[in-house]
Amino acid sequence: MSQKCDICGKVPSVGRNVSHSHKKTPKTWGTNVQKMRVKTPTGGVKQMNVCTKCLKANKVVKA
Ligand SMILES: [Zn+2]
Repeated sequence: MSQKCDICGKVPSVGRNVSHSHKKTPKTWGTNVQKMRVKTPTGGVKQMNVCTKCLKANKVVKA
């Protein structure tokens, strides 16, 4: 499943976990992206991947 938001283009960020002993392991922070049907400006309905931040900011209209 894609983790990219079709509205703002948000993608998972990568970094490293640092333990108490300072050992570093790779880590990925995923995005909370939901696949949903949204209304397009032309009046149609389209399935898109939308992150929950865009949902809460009312950047999309749910079909
Ligand atoms: Zn977004």
